[in-house]
Amino acid sequence: MEPQREWFEKDYYKILGVAEDASASDISKAYRRLAKELHPDANPGDSAVEDRFKEVASAYDVLGDSSKRKAYDDVRRLGPMAGAFGPGGPGGPGAAGGFNLNFEQMGDLQNLFGGLFGRRRRPGDTGQRGADIETEVKLDFADAVSGATIAVPVTGEARCRTCEGLGAEPPARPQPCPTCSGTGVTEENQGLFSFSRPCTACAGRGVVIDEPCSACRGRGVEHRRREVKARIPAGVTDGQRIKLKGRGGPSQGPGAQPGDLYVRISVKPHRLFGRDGKNLTLSVPVTFSEAALGAHVKVPTLDDSTITIRIPPGTTTGRRLRIPASPSTGGADLIVEVEVVVPEHLSDEQRAAVEAFAAAPGDDPRPHLRRKTSDHGESS
Ligand SMILES: [Zn+2]
Ligand SMILES: [Zn+2]
Repeated sequence: MEPQREWFEKDYYKILGVAEDASASDISKAYRRLAKELHPDANPGDSAVEDRFKEVASAYDVLGDSSKRKAYDDVRRLGPMAGAFGPGGPGGPGAAGGFNLNFEQMGDLQNLFGGLFGRRRRPGDTGQRGADIETEVKLDFADAVSGATIAVPVTGEARCRTCEGLGAEPPARPQPCPTCSGTGVTEENQGLFSFSRPCTACAGRGVVIDEPCSACRGRGVEHRRREVKARIPAGVTDGQRIKLKGRGGPSQGPGAQPGDLYVRISVKPHRLFGRDGKNLTLSVPVTFSEAALGAHVKVPTLDDSTITIRIPPGTTTGRRLRIPASPSTGGADLIVEVEVVVPEHLSDEQRAAVEAFAAAPGDDPRPHLRRKTSDHGESS
């Protein structure tokens, strides 16, 4: 919507909840109260509040500035004229009430909103969305377990550093298109109706560039290698893809969004540790006597220190012991899987000890496998 028409159609006093003769300090008080209440940080993801916040900011941008406020009051007063002809119609901009809009300030406002919300698409928005990019990073095992912030190298189209993506040869900057006053659309009045179409002078961009940037020939993008900081969450697995919204290829032209960056994670395997979901796993061999009598066993941790774990008496192969998460386990629970090792060769002393064990009375481990007499069918 063009600024003049927006001024005519919107009641900024009502939006700020103040009287039309409110003092400047009442207006700024009302604005501060609403801005605090409606700020996007306080209402994340609520688009209705977001719209209201923008409305309030637009209203204050005008009413908070005494000269703009006076111009606005004029437009409101001369409203029917502005509505019938509109800018670009008979008399062109200025016919409605003898005011001039400061497009630089409008631009600032859009930048502010663009930064906060991402701009809505307007008729003059002819930009092209940036490309989605996928890249792979190799992650150390410990970083995958505990999460890490890494620099992801990306080679491809990036914002031109010479012109900061604006396309104009520094120090010049793109200027608002004089034909469409920076809106990207022109209107043609036919009787009571007006038709809007993309401005041909600026191809709907709303800006014109006198001298294109020599580095990117005005495209605003260049091919180069850059690094994108990425926060990798704890527990990421091999092959997982992480989406970094808006960190892909740059957009071209106004109103378009940059692409997304997808980082495919490849996790280097660890010599000792494995993973089971979010848990760390470690296989720990123990001797027969450690398993039978119980023992305290030292095992390595992810940060190259050691912890002592308790093997309870009577532990069998395959028993899983859970060690609660700690910094030395990378913040993951450690699942120790016990493996009872049977020696392949026995010394004489060992043999004698095991034979003594075998000779001692003990429980039969296989009662359930023994044939009962009734199973025989033909007993004695
Ligand atoms: Zn134009
Ligand atoms: Zn450039």
